[in-house]
Amino acid sequence: MFSRSWPAAETAAYFAALTAADEGFAAEVVTAMERGGVRASSVTAMEGRLIEAFARLSGAKKAVEIGTLYGYSAHWIARGLPEAGRLYSLEQDPACVNAAKDAIEASSLSRKVTVMQGPAAESLKTLSKLAPFDFCFLDADAAQYPSFLRWAAANLRPGGLVLANNVFIEGKIPAGDATAADNTRSRAMRGFFHVLFDSDRFVSVSVLPTGGGMALGIKAQAA
Ligand code: SAH
Ligand code: MG
Repeated sequence: MFSRSWPAAETAAYFAALTAADEGFAAEVVTAMERGGVRASSVTAMEGRLIEAFARLSGAKKAVEIGTLYGYSAHWIARGLPEAGRLYSLEQDPACVNAAKDAIEASSLSRKVTVMQGPAAESLKTLSKLAPFDFCFLDADAAQYPSFLRWAAANLRPGGLVLANNVFIEGKIPAGDATAADNTRSRAMRGFFHVLFDSDRFVSVSVLPTGGGMALGIKAQAA
């Protein structure tokens, strides 16, 4: 059976308690997500810390996130950026955009984060003009991961990092599933990995076995 719990439930509960105190910087967004009933759709605090660490390690100054929801993961990415860093976070659902803007405004990170409303494919075209980017976090519609990754391959600087969440699509990559939507996602995810594991475009590629699966790759130096 596929479980999105990472680590296993009891261990996860231990770490959730251990890290809860440090969620204060994101208090508004946590409250908003709980009120809106969407907490389960964001990354966990432990995944947030991982994403922050990756942003910090990659020395990112200019970052993009696809899939804002209410801005929870955006808080962690922004925390991994320097004072002059910028995160552009893309979201198509207007209600989510409003919730995210409110939560980010109430935090200490508002100078670093710009939420862009609309289909990611459109916003990414606009953002190409600001390339190169240092860091790209994918956390949206799995069917579009191949095109998001092609954007990252074209718009990250050499050495820049792409991180992609929920790449296990509930265990359905290998064989798909009974429904057409699942088959679309599993086909898309196989296409995504085909590009990610293409060593001309990305190096140091791996997949972290988080509950949802988190893939990463570093943009290759120009040949
Ligand atoms: N990263 C967030 C969770 C994102 S949930 C966090 O951890 O806090 C996925 C979000 O992606 C949803 O809010 C959904 O509306 C948005 N989304 C899905 N497909 C999209 C697309 N094509 N363009 C823009 N946003 C999209
Ligand atoms: Mg789109």
